Amino acid sequence: MEALRDTIVKVDLKELGRNMDLIAELCGPNVAIMPVIKANGYGLGAVGIAPTLIEHGAAYLGVATLTEALELRKAYPEYPIFILGYTPDRFNEYVVEAGITQTVVNFDQAKALSDCALSKGKKLTVHLKVDTGFHRLGTSDREELLKMAQLPGLLVEGIFSHLALASEEEDIAQFEMLEAIIEYLEAKGCSFRYKHIADSIALVNYPGFRMNMVRPGALVYGLKGYRRGFIDVRPCMSVETRISQIHTLSEGEGVGYDFLWKAPKDGTRVGAVPIGYADGYPRNMRDKGYVTIRGTKCPVVGVICMDQMMIDLNGCPEAQVGDTAIVYGDGSGNTMSIEEASKLAGTNKNEIIARILARPPRVYIK
Ligand SMILES: *Cc1c(COP(=O)(O)O)cnc(C)c1O
Repeated sequence: MEALRDTIVKVDLKELGRNMDLIAELCGPNVAIMPVIKANGYGLGAVGIAPTLIEHGAAYLGVATLTEALELRKAYPEYPIFILGYTPDRFNEYVVEAGITQTVVNFDQAKALSDCALSKGKKLTVHLKVDTGFHRLGTSDREELLKMAQLPGLLVEGIFSHLALASEEEDIAQFEMLEAIIEYLEAKGCSFRYKHIADSIALVNYPGFRMNMVRPGALVYGLKGYRRGFIDVRPCMSVETRISQIHTLSEGEGVGYDFLWKAPKDGTRVGAVPIGYADGYPRNMRDKGYVTIRGTKCPVVGVICMDQMMIDLNGCPEAQVGDTAIVYGDGSGNTMSIEEASKLAGTNKNEIIARILARPPRVYIK
């Protein structure tokens, strides 16, 4: 479908596939990959990118919430989908009916899911979540985990945990705790097809933590966050807009709400672009951000509005209405990388792309 807007999120599916291939190569044939496509595929559009991930060997599609899982289930009636987060008991029927693999965090939740599955004459596939110190979801109680694993309505396919990435020492302690618990449960007769703890950073930093499944999010999208090791993934997303109108101002004329920016000299050209904080552009980028027009960095000036913002075009006298303005690029050609944006906005890379809200159309390049 035609993107009916000048502001778009452009996703290069070839680069996305290449990133998946590089992760698979790094991990080897005995490690299954569950790309994490929560938060609408980190802003890239979960349903739009799923076919590429599946084509490039995703064993599972990982999401955070039931809503995300059901959206994917509608588009992919058969593919394994995994909810990494907690689903409240009152929605168990949806999980069971849609055949979605659910994280189970304690006995009460597991029992409710098991009962729900049995009432429908089914078994629900689940993974046990072990709390190895993050203290977000899961339990570290071995007897509780064992009771969860023995529930008749559940098919316990996997067991996993999540690292706090506090320090190497702490990471190792968490990993060893998970291993010890798995060993205990296996000695009691449990068996797990999938064991996993590594997100993007951990799978690069700690080859020994890959077990037989990894859960990369950021890395799939070409956002490098690891501290050690190396993998040549590349960004596969850019955000682009176009200049809607240009004004020529006299020295001292204000721009935008509260006139917080004023033209420094006569003949100052200011361009409006149709992207604002309702598209996920950080409002605190005022006086810090820039867009790239004809290869030139042009500063964002004045207050960032809900749907638009203004650009100082003094550095780019040839700029015209309709010119493309690159908001986020891969960092080359004077474009702002997601990494640079995250530093300027005082957040992390994942938040910058997750913030890109539903409004800008996603355009997929094959
Ligand atoms: C989001 C998430 C991931 C992926 O994290 P990245 O840092 O983007 O690789 C992996 N596991 C869990 C449980 C998550 O919530």
